[in-house]
Amino acid sequence: MNNTTLTLLTVLLVVFLSSCKKTQTYTLLSMEDVILYGSELPESDPNTRLACSAWENYVPYPENMLWFEQEKIRINFHTMYDSVGDKLMPFKEKRMFLWYMMDNAHLRLRSNPKMNLPVGNNTPNLQPMYMYEITASPDTNNFNGHYAHVDDELYFYLNKGKHRNNYSKEVIKKYAIHDDTILNVFVMPVHPDSVASKTYKQHNAGVALGTSVKISGFWEDDPKPWEYAAMFNHEVGHVFGLAHAWTKSDGCEDTPVNPNCFQKTNKEPCKGPISNNLMDYNNEQMAITPCQLGIIHRTMHDIKSKKRKLVKQRWCKYNPNPIIITDVQEWNGNKDLSKDIIVKSGASLSLSCRISMAKGAKIIVEEGGKLVLDNVRLHNDCGDTWGGIKIHSRNPNQSIIFRGTNVIENTGTQLSKV
Ligand SMILES: [Zn+2]
Repeated sequence: MNNTTLTLLTVLLVVFLSSCKKTQTYTLLSMEDVILYGSELPESDPNTRLACSAWENYVPYPENMLWFEQEKIRINFHTMYDSVGDKLMPFKEKRMFLWYMMDNAHLRLRSNPKMNLPVGNNTPNLQPMYMYEITASPDTNNFNGHYAHVDDELYFYLNKGKHRNNYSKEVIKKYAIHDDTILNVFVMPVHPDSVASKTYKQHNAGVALGTSVKISGFWEDDPKPWEYAAMFNHEVGHVFGLAHAWTKSDGCEDTPVNPNCFQKTNKEPCKGPISNNLMDYNNEQMAITPCQLGIIHRTMHDIKSKKRKLVKQRWCKYNPNPIIITDVQEWNGNKDLSKDIIVKSGASLSLSCRISMAKGAKIIVEEGGKLVLDNVRLHNDCGDTWGGIKIHSRNPNQSIIFRGTNVIENTGTQLSKV
């Protein structure tokens, strides 16, 4: 047997042995496990990737629907009366009115129209991925999320003059219910002196104060739910981080600076077309841009934000329909997931920022798939444990790659096993 034959036989033996190497399952519950079985890549240049807080990471683009889930903002309503009780419609009717307002607020979100400005724009009109849920507080004996209060001192809303109280939090301090987890909405009549004044013009107004909103108006004999729905969506926009859109400083390039015209007139600068953006003052207030949606959803996934607590924790309940990765995906931005993630053969998923996995949920990497932990914190935001990373592979060091600082938390105390 000459040397060439020997070499050939050795090669064949190695090929034979490696092809016989069986796929095994590795359950990785900690970073120690990942380091043991995975391969480390050098840290990438942090300047070349988007920061976790960039709004671009939170936009509900169609391609992000793989992992995007609909959020629900918990709300309750407080209707304020004075002891005469004639300044707002009776409570029973008011509850019905607010139901119609909520319904219209949802309709407006769902129909998010194209932006009017700038003329000729290509700004996509995307589906906002949030809605409202009226929330009762049975612990306070409330079963429908509606409250009526009679208070001669605090019942009114006034945004002009000596007695203006629009920025006052008094009524919130006195009557808010669970405003750490529920957006409290105060419905308040305009002060009667103001209505009686000759210079008063009928208008509705609102203000967002922390995790509460005050909205006023409702004086007319026949108020229209849709007028208040626009204002309500606008104030909720403020709560979740949006600034007025007509200014330069709202952090969004897709909301052009504009003269903030309420409606079209015959005179400049309101000859039109005029803005239809939710965060301008106009008679439509409907369009929400990708940047604005990115800011709202960023707030919802910012674990340090008090506003996040107003969002129902749908990510705490395990959803058995998995997210299936079949191509190359790089996820940036904080996420709160309720599902398993399955990385199929030939696919690759890179994770970064903060990702909460639901109770028992797993990240499963099939034979031939690749998972990259790229400066990610994997945890469970609900005080439970999640199921960790499962690798089905002949060569785990090709299936799990890590770089930078990674943290795996809340996978329980179970010992890792091979
Ligand atoms: Zn505003």
